[in-house]
Amino acid sequence: MKIAIPSETHPGEARVAASPDTVKAYVKKGADVHVQKGAGAGSSISDDAFAAAGAKIGTDVVKDADIVLTVRRPSAKILKAMKDGAILAGGLEPYGDRDGLEAIAKSGVTAFAMELMPRITRAQSMDILSSQANLAGYKAVIDAASHFTRAFPMMMTAAGTVPPAKVFIMGVGVAGLQAIATARRLGAIVSATDVRKATEEQVKSLGAKFVYVDLADAATSAGYARELTAEEKAKQAALIADHVKGQDIVITTALIPGRPAPVLITPEMVEAMKPGSVIVDLAVERGGNCPLSKPDEIVVHKGVSIIGTLNLAGRLAGNASPLFAKNLANFLDLMIQKEGGLKIDEADECIKGTMIAKGGALVHTMFTGAK
Ligand code: NAD
Repeated sequence: MKIAIPSETHPGEARVAASPDTVKAYVKKGADVHVQKGAGAGSSISDDAFAAAGAKIGTDVVKDADIVLTVRRPSAKILKAMKDGAILAGGLEPYGDRDGLEAIAKSGVTAFAMELMPRITRAQSMDILSSQANLAGYKAVIDAASHFTRAFPMMMTAAGTVPPAKVFIMGVGVAGLQAIATARRLGAIVSATDVRKATEEQVKSLGAKFVYVDLADAATSAGYARELTAEEKAKQAALIADHVKGQDIVITTALIPGRPAPVLITPEMVEAMKPGSVIVDLAVERGGNCPLSKPDEIVVHKGVSIIGTLNLAGRLAGNASPLFAKNLANFLDLMIQKEGGLKIDEADECIKGTMIAKGGALVHTMFTGAK
């Protein structure tokens, strides 16, 4: 069985879909692992480190591979080089760009979009959204702190007192929880809000204040949030507007799967903030929680900086890659048999939930419309 790890081709992507540890584990299971020369460079993993773990380093690794692992959707060139029926697993970006998805299907590979992993306990170790969002939440706070012209912790000095920064986290999923913890560690006064009721306890247990919007619980059975009704949105906006005014840093992480990100911070709310305040919009890739944010730009609006850095986890590639790689290795464990062969059990919830293409066609109900 040949497993291939090509270099990522998406501009600026520093991550890689394997680590020395996962290579070792695949080799132990009898696989031949081929890593593209330089694929780990952006994550500070050298070719030598991959080779020491048992990988073969090459330039044309995808040809003849039974399994190809990627962080992002692979290029047309990689898809073309893959053999018919080979397994492709990675972050295949299933939302939007239907043509790109059709291209994956038409290439004849059996493709698994790891973003679609079901939110069940057994799947936690395979969940790329969680492992990457955790790092993104941390990095959002670090970026905000380095851009902010004031300090986070309170400091009492002979020349006067530096007040603690006020940080507000909107959306308390995986990224939001890590953002709360990070901002608290830096000494800020932290508050947070979400539309899922379960988050209130989590926010309080991290020592932050919960900003409560009295709505019917917006959690879905899949563990995500639903879109709010127009009336609910108006209620939330009224309360948030008042709270945002007094904040130094706002970090927004609110997402609804398969939908554009909800608008939480309107231009009017930005204008009501103090000059020097910083907003980090983690949802910018999906349209943004603030309409003023722009992908990979820092927009300064009336003295408030709005940071729209894309792929924050990718900027911590040294951690993000090993975690991503481990998620993939745990997933492949469902298919790699003890005797070395591969078996795709389509009755398995994690396999069924992530399989988007097979035999030349899109097969996931999200794209076929079947129930
Ligand atoms: P997400 O990235 O989809 O969304 C981020 C947060 O934004 C969520 O908490 C969501 O409720 C919130 N949000 C959405 N719309 C909002 C709005 N209008 N206003 C305010 N907040 C809004 O979520 P996520 O980080 O992927 O995780 C969601 C939940 O799923 C978490 O509780 C997490 O612990 C859980 N989870 C479970 C598993 C598992 O069991 N395998 C894996 C990962 C996450």
